[in-house]
Order: sequence, then C-alpha cells, then structure tokens
Amino acid sequence: MALARTLILVALTVSLFTFVAFFGRLPAFRNTPIGFLNRLFVLHIPSFLCRLDGKLTNGRITSGSARLGHYLMHDKHPVIVVFFLGLVTACAVLLLPAVWHTLRLYHKLLTLFLLPQPYFWLWLSAKSNNATYITRAHHASQMRHYPYDRVLYHPGHTCSTCKLLKPARSKHCSICKTCVSRMDHHCIWVNNCLGRGNYKYFLFLLLSTGILIAYGAYLAWYSLSPLVGNQYAKFESWYTYKPTPGSDPKSLMNWFGAKSHYFVAYVSLYLDLGGLSAAGVGLLALLTWPLPLGLLAYHIYLIWAGMTTNESSKWADWRDDMADGVVFLGKRREDTMAENWFSASHPTAAPLRRADNEEEIDVEEPQTTWPLESRHILVRTRDGQAPKSLPPRIQRVAEPDSFERVWSLAAVENVYDLGFWDNLVEVLTN
Ligand SMILES: [Zn+2]
Ligand SMILES: [Zn+2]
Repeated sequence: MALARTLILVALTVSLFTFVAFFGRLPAFRNTPIGFLNRLFVLHIPSFLCRLDGKLTNGRITSGSARLGHYLMHDKHPVIVVFFLGLVTACAVLLLPAVWHTLRLYHKLLTLFLLPQPYFWLWLSAKSNNATYITRAHHASQMRHYPYDRVLYHPGHTCSTCKLLKPARSKHCSICKTCVSRMDHHCIWVNNCLGRGNYKYFLFLLLSTGILIAYGAYLAWYSLSPLVGNQYAKFESWYTYKPTPGSDPKSLMNWFGAKSHYFVAYVSLYLDLGGLSAAGVGLLALLTWPLPLGLLAYHIYLIWAGMTTNESSKWADWRDDMADGVVFLGKRREDTMAENWFSASHPTAAPLRRADNEEEIDVEEPQTTWPLESRHILVRTRDGQAPKSLPPRIQRVAEPDSFERVWSLAAVENVYDLGFWDNLVEVLTN
C-alpha cells in the first residue's frame, strides 16, 4: 500500500509539473493558479534564489552556475529531448517484456506500429527545414504567405538580429537565433521552434504520444487484470461508499477518502502482481496520457480560432487593453487595400507605391496568396483618449477620423481565420 501511495504521489507530481510546464504560460491560464505556479517556478523562485545568493555569498554560486543556467534557458540543447525519449524508451523497455507473452498478435502488431511514431514525428519536428526558418534565400517567398493584419502585425519592421523584414505572423526566436515563419512557439520538448513547415509534425507528435501512452496503460491493465481476478472485491466497501444525504463537507471528504483509498488499494494489488515494470509503468501511463492529448486539444482550439500560440497571447493583450477602454478601431482606406492596389498597372511582384510615386507606402508589403485582407486598424492609446496623432505608417492607410473605442474582440476581424476546416488544411499542408 505504501509503495502504491508513493508511486501515485510521484506520478501525480510529475503530471502536475508537466501540466504547469505545458500550459502555465498560455494566456488562458494567465490569471489562474496554473499560471501563478508557472511564474513561481520560472521567474519568482529563480530570482529569489539569485537574491539570496547575492546576500549570502555575494553571488558566487549564481555567477558560477550562470553559464549553465544561460545554456539551459537560452541556448538550443537536447536535454529535454533526451529526457523525453529516454522516458518513453525506458517505459517501453520495462513494460513490453513483462507483458509481451500475454498479448494477442494484433496487440503485438499495433504495439510495433505505435511505438516508433513519437520518435519519427519528433525527429521531423526537430530537424531544421527551409519552410520554418526565415533566411535571406527564401525571404521573398516567405513575405508572400500572409498579409499584415494591422492588428497583430504591421509592415515595415526589420528584425534587428536577422536584418530582414519581418513577414506577417513571424517572430524572432532568441534560442534558435532566427526569425521563424508563422511562429507558434519555441518547444523545448523538440528543441526547435514550431512554425510553418513543422507545426503539423508537432501535432502528430502529440497525437501519437498520447495514443501510445494510453495504449501502454491499456496493455498493462490487459495483461494484469486476469491475475488480479476478483481480488479487489475485498475493497468493495470503499468502492460502494456513499456520502450521507446532504452535502456536508465532512461527508464529502469521507467519500473522497474512501474513493482514493480504493484507488490506492487497487493499484497496490496490481503492483503486487505485476511489479514496477508492468504495473508501475502502467500507472505512470494512466496518469499522464491526458497531457499530450490535452495539449493537442488546445492546439485544435487554436486552429479553430485561426491563431498561433504566439498570437493567442497578443490577442489576450488586446482583450485586456480593451477591457481598460484604451483601444480604438479604425477603418482602412479602400485604395490601400491590396485588391485595389494590385491591378493591371501594379504587377503583383511590385512593392506597394502610390500611383504617382510621390510617396512610398509600405514598400515592404508585397501581394500575398492569402484570400483575406484586413479592413481594420487597431491602436491603443496611453491616456484612453481617441488617438490624435498616429504614427505615419498607420496614418497613411487609415480612414481619417474613423477611430472608435472598442470594448470587445468580437468587433475585430481575424484575417488569419478562414474557418476551421480551411485553417486545418492550411496547417496540415504547410
Ligand atoms: Zn530575426
Ligand atoms: Zn526557437
């Protein structure tokens, strides 16, 4: 029983930490305990330790470990990849020999099919490819994938490191040390940035890992349950325990206690019969399979909403600023829209210029292959008053005096959202 309790606690702790690491930085969890725990582990505890070290040893420990810390936090390194693949491999090496002789042929074949999948998709996600990284050689074509929506992305910004114009939806990654096309996020689990070109592989990595872990838990249960038989009947009274009518907290606690007791006893029974190799791995799998599938569900939501993880935090910033009443939505001038601009007299490859050449308008903005174009411009003001003077770049394309305060994101069109199926096709084919 003690072993089962310890193992459950360890597996739950590992799951919780992984959950916080996976989800804690998402805007949806910004003001929740998950977000707080993430900031606690990533920001507050390290900075507290640094300050403590500064006081106690004049910073000797932190300066000594700074290089290692910098390497772990700011450089590409395979530590997490090795940990992840090591964990998958170790679990497979422990579980499969213990249960193999009990498996039917189709389970064996399915195992042989599912097991290599995470390695394969991780390899594809991790290897560099020309579609993801923005390089001088592919810059012109990468500028033509998405229009600037003038909400999250404005034309004319040059990356100070890469010295290249930033295409819409791109972002510079300080770890990969390059700008990334349709940047989603830098993923430490694959030691690479996920963006156009490899995001789809990451989705398959999540799917295959979730299925493999769930299948591992099922195989452990499948091979051990005949041994367990009906031995768990002796814990029946815990299982069937019902709280007394009325929801007084004490009786609910008793109910929760009885159910957890039953779960621990049940796991303990499996551990006695299957040992750590089958039951221990099965338990870890049982408690962790929802993590990759939960993250996959979040990414399906992002695809449905037509945004990347990077953009979801930008939208969350706008939403917070809108709630503060400092955001104004303006109309874009019709003649600056690409559909009017790129006509017979303006070949598609030409930069945007005024017809009379008197002034350049966003020479950095070629025509794109994207079917939608933004008709809005969103600005935030410091004082919460309607914008009086706008930056020239915005002024040139905005309808004068068209800015009105907006309170909700519902008023703003997301041009990167083509509808769920088209978004999904876009993600899976690029
Ligand atoms: Zn860059
Ligand atoms: Zn990166």
